[in-house]
Amino acid sequence: VITLENVHKSFGALKVLDGVSFSVNKGEVFAIIGRSGSGKSTALRCIDRLERIDQGRIRVCGHEVSDPGLDLRQLRLDVGIVFQSYNLFPHLTAAENIALAPRHSKGKTRAEAKELTERVLAQVGLSDKAGSYPEQLSGGQQQRVAIARSLAMEPQVMLFDEVTSALDPQLTGEVLKVMADLAAGGMTMVLVTHEMSFARNVATTTLFMHKGRVWEQGGPGMFDRPETAELQQFLGSGL
Ligand code: ATP
Ligand code: MG
Repeated sequence: VITLENVHKSFGALKVLDGVSFSVNKGEVFAIIGRSGSGKSTALRCIDRLERIDQGRIRVCGHEVSDPGLDLRQLRLDVGIVFQSYNLFPHLTAAENIALAPRHSKGKTRAEAKELTERVLAQVGLSDKAGSYPEQLSGGQQQRVAIARSLAMEPQVMLFDEVTSALDPQLTGEVLKVMADLAAGGMTMVLVTHEMSFARNVATTTLFMHKGRVWEQGGPGMFDRPETAELQQFLGSGL
């Protein structure tokens, strides 16, 4: 459902993506790992066209992302994205944060949005927090509300960019559990992560980016038998 072909992207003189190609199949959990600055977030952002590419081709859920005639609204309906910062509206409850986009962007009725909200809150294990405001929730709970908000749009694929990086280990575990459940439920996911054990145990494919290139890619076995010196060093460094 996602294909990148020879994607190039520079910021001024800085080449950030240098001929990146990969594909993600339906139902796959696709992890992207690599050092800081290797281009992981940029690759993810290009998939949702938060960044435009200089060269190459990206197709997502049947959309030609690099096509000037792209229906950006339709792309964004098919692709959910969650970042490290949750960006919940502080003056709205968890349920209101979640219902906002389905009501306004998808024209759901109040009753439909309520049902949807209840379903996704249950999915992230927060049914009892529907009426809580963000400041009354832990960081991990806020992040789970952010994930629920994205799920409420019923996307075809979900993108996650280091969604646990700001959290302490216990809260990280709660969020990873939600993501593992989503994966088990068949959601197609691409995640940039520093959680090597999650990539190893949950991801169907892991891609190691280095210097804006796909340096190595493989299944869980890649962690035991890295082929390149760069991945060996990366895994051995304990980050
Ligand atoms: P990290 O693990 O630190 O999040 P990353 O692999 O996600 O790193 P990117 O965010 O993709 O890295 O950034 C790759 C390079 O592009 C970095 O050198 C970064 O400074 C640069 N960069 C990213 N976004 C921009 C931008 N909007 N303008 C200029 N440079 C940028
Ligand atoms: Mg990043």
